Amino acid sequence: MALFDPKAKVISGYQKAIDDRTTSIRKYYDEIGKLYYDQYKDMKVDNTKDINTRCEAITRLSNEIEDFKLKILFERGLKKCPNCGTENSLEYGFCFKCGSKFDEDSSKEPKTDFEKAEAQLEEAKEEEAEQASEDAAPEEEKAEDKSEE
Ligand SMILES: [Zn+2]
Repeated sequence: MALFDPKAKVISGYQKAIDDRTTSIRKYYDEIGKLYYDQYKDMKVDNTKDINTRCEAITRLSNEIEDFKLKILFERGLKKCPNCGTENSLEYGFCFKCGSKFDEDSSKEPKTDFEKAEAQLEEAKEEEAEQASEDAAPEEEKAEDKSEE
């Protein structure tokens, strides 16, 4: 009987995220082809804007796929050398192939752009909440006083 590997579930989740994005990218490529066809079939049509938004989406999805690939590597105890792309063990301080130095964060779990943005938003919210609770505190007391009267 094979031992259950909890990492397998996490990795298959990331793999699914990659597959979903790959499907979306194919769909956008198809749409771009159609938009180009319509534009060149009839020179009065200008689909530049629609084509641009799809190009941006493909770039974003491709970046996300790279992030998820790094996360899968991390689950397997590996990281990629930013210089030569060779997979190294997480604890290595230098790439065993090209000798480039890894920065300190390289052994931590890589974050996707989405997670980075979310963390920033969370931080901003916490600061805002702190600010708000400081400002709101006296008002709350006033409101309570009124209801008791
Ligand atoms: Zn390297």
